[in-house]
Amino acid sequence: ASLNDDVDIGYAAVDSICDYYTNLQNGTIPVKAKVQPGYLIDQLPTSAPENGQDFNEIQKDFNKLILPGITHWQSPSFFAYFPSNSTFECMIADILSSSVANPGFNWICSPACTELEQVVVEWTAKLLGLDKMFWGSSGIGGGVIMGSASDSAFTAGIAAREKALRYLSVENGVKPSDYGEIEIPESIRNEYSQKLVIYGSTQTHSLAAKTAVMLGLPFRAVPVSIEDNYSLTGQNLKEIIDKDISNGLIPFLIYATVGTTSTGAIDKIEEIGNLIKKKYPKTFLHVDAAWAGVAYALPNYRKNLKLNEVNEFANSFCTNFHKWGLTTFDCSIFCIKDRKDLTKALDVTPSYLRSKESDQGIVIDYRNWQPALGRRFRSIKLWFVLRSFGIKGFQEHLLRGIDHCQQLEKIIKESSNFEIVTPPSLTLIVFRLNPISSKEDIQLDDDELNLMNQDLFKALDLRCDIFLTQTMLHSKERNMYVIRIAMGGVHTKFSDVEEAWRIVEEEGQKILVKWKA
Ligand code: PLP
Repeated sequence: ASLNDDVDIGYAAVDSICDYYTNLQNGTIPVKAKVQPGYLIDQLPTSAPENGQDFNEIQKDFNKLILPGITHWQSPSFFAYFPSNSTFECMIADILSSSVANPGFNWICSPACTELEQVVVEWTAKLLGLDKMFWGSSGIGGGVIMGSASDSAFTAGIAAREKALRYLSVENGVKPSDYGEIEIPESIRNEYSQKLVIYGSTQTHSLAAKTAVMLGLPFRAVPVSIEDNYSLTGQNLKEIIDKDISNGLIPFLIYATVGTTSTGAIDKIEEIGNLIKKKYPKTFLHVDAAWAGVAYALPNYRKNLKLNEVNEFANSFCTNFHKWGLTTFDCSIFCIKDRKDLTKALDVTPSYLRSKESDQGIVIDYRNWQPALGRRFRSIKLWFVLRSFGIKGFQEHLLRGIDHCQQLEKIIKESSNFEIVTPPSLTLIVFRLNPISSKEDIQLDDDELNLMNQDLFKALDLRCDIFLTQTMLHSKERNMYVIRIAMGGVHTKFSDVEEAWRIVEEEGQKILVKWKA
């Protein structure tokens, strides 16, 4: 294709993106796809074409074949999981990032890629009020943009394991090398690696259990209770850890969460932190605030979200700007108080990866801060977002979502058939149909309530005009099947929230009629 053709193709793509967003806004496109498993595989050839095809045809097939199978996360009626907001700033930034395509693993691989990341990550650390120890300019701590909170947690896990093995080496008499480093002897690795244990709660995201699988170590999901609002407490944690210690095991990593996936619970970071300080000093604390962490950008919310405790006790912290934070997937900010925890674990440098700047130690090579070598140029989109919205615009966006949640909370509280199960958290409400509290007065036990709510969720799930998620809340007291409605979508207006609740009420009525019969 000539340059002119390329330009036309580019214009056509942008036009079709604009049409798509208009259609999402005016409700022409339902949030959920209406397709069945295999729908796309059945329509595509089984091998790549022998000869190149006309680009216009390929692009048309995006609309014809791909869009019908898309779950529209940018729809104003998307209330499932947590939002994964996208903005035009990021779409443009992603195009620019692709145009200078580079896997900037070392500073020399694209100085701008590394340095822009250093700058914008520091901007976010300041925006969120993270302690200076997490700032790159401290020269000791710093941050990096990961693809996901799971990657961040896994990376923290590797750093934590190596740090614990270094402690154990010192305890066993290993002396620093000529460079002042502790090299972990094979014998220490062999003796202790399999004794290390990871902790979180039953509400911790699956990233903890996955990290455990990847590291080949056990994960203890500490039980939580309803009276603690599903948060991990120091006491519950201590009971499990002490049992492990009495069996010769070694705690080395705790995942605490600010804003759990199921209910938005906030773990008792201060209790956990003090416990670590007093009793388990070899233990690394990673705070996963994948969803809620961006709300630290609102100074009034910092106290409730335990920012001071995170700043005091966490070794590392993660939040996803690709959830509520306006930045198109993927953009997970991972900050650590001691960057050497990462580089000591992950700096593996064969000669072909060396550069004179790296050898002089005057640049950051982000490959040493993550498991993979190559990396995407993610900082451009965050740079565009933070500049285009500004701190004020970013805060206004967050407050809009919180306001929607507070308005919906009032509506649900007035409803006679539904109850809010846990205190609403920022933009998340967890609810269930519970006619015991209503005039309908159907007497149902816990299991029946769970079944009735499963029925309700099935009915909601059959519809394409709304997308919610269900979850099972495990606690010491009982297991509760509940439904989540997560607001904070950048394109969502309160009228969209009201419409979603109207649908829930409508389906709830039908379920009640069925259960009363
Ligand atoms: N942590 C929490 C609390 C989450 O809610 C989620 C996803 O919703 C994650 C981690 C996983 O995020 P990611 O997909 O970036 O790994």
